[in-house]
Amino acid sequence: MLAIDQSLFGSDDNFVVLVRDEATGAVATIDAVDGDFIARRLRALGWGLDLVLVTHHHRDHTAGIPALKAAFGARVVAPAAELGRIAGVDRGVGEGDTVNIGRAIFEVIETPGHTSGHIAYWSAGEKVAFVGDTLFSLGCGRLFEGSPETMWASLQKLRALPRDTAIYCGHDYTAANGRFAATIEPQNLDLEARIAEVARLAAAGRPTLPTTIGAERATNPFLRADRPRLRRALGMAKTTPEAVFAEIRRRKDSFA
Ligand code: ZN
Ligand code: FE
Repeated sequence: MLAIDQSLFGSDDNFVVLVRDEATGAVATIDAVDGDFIARRLRALGWGLDLVLVTHHHRDHTAGIPALKAAFGARVVAPAAELGRIAGVDRGVGEGDTVNIGRAIFEVIETPGHTSGHIAYWSAGEKVAFVGDTLFSLGCGRLFEGSPETMWASLQKLRALPRDTAIYCGHDYTAANGRFAATIEPQNLDLEARIAEVARLAAAGRPTLPTTIGAERATNPFLRADRPRLRRALGMAKTTPEAVFAEIRRRKDSFA
């Protein structure tokens, strides 16, 4: 069993996700936006830190690594494909490699697109995935280092995980994503319900995550580029899913 603590940091709403394996007491942080903030949160919980699991090289996911290594002696696991761009990595991992947090076993899934070496960590046994900036609730990451085809392929890998997989993302962009998603699929009742739920959570000062793969399949336009209803709504019933995905991403990039 895992205990998962989630808090928000900074102006870009980075999620700080801390994971403790209850059987062994082993603790990991998913990414490391800020060493001081994470150390303070760990102390408040009475947890140590054994591992940093990095999803990609961006500063808002790696800046805290040196401080956490110094303070806790934590080992750093990061994408093998981005080793040259992340300081202090102890182990590079790629598709199909496994990483343990205590007795919990995670499989690495390569999800390039946001960055060229981006990875996600998935545990079938714990029914949880840490997906960084590839998949957000009702959205997906910007394509800084990948084509729409690459990102669509990565999102399809995540979409294929079991429906009840809990999804922890790198940022809380859910409310803004919902406003955009409603412009793509205004007739989607599941989406409408999720937007109402997000408003309730925000009013109560609570995070909008985790979400699940099942919920995102039903509501996230970036996972639905091959769905007939969405394609008809965009007037793109006869184009490829990749082209539909590219069009949704293009609209999102210019959505105010
Ligand atoms: Zn990023
Ligand atoms: Fe980020």
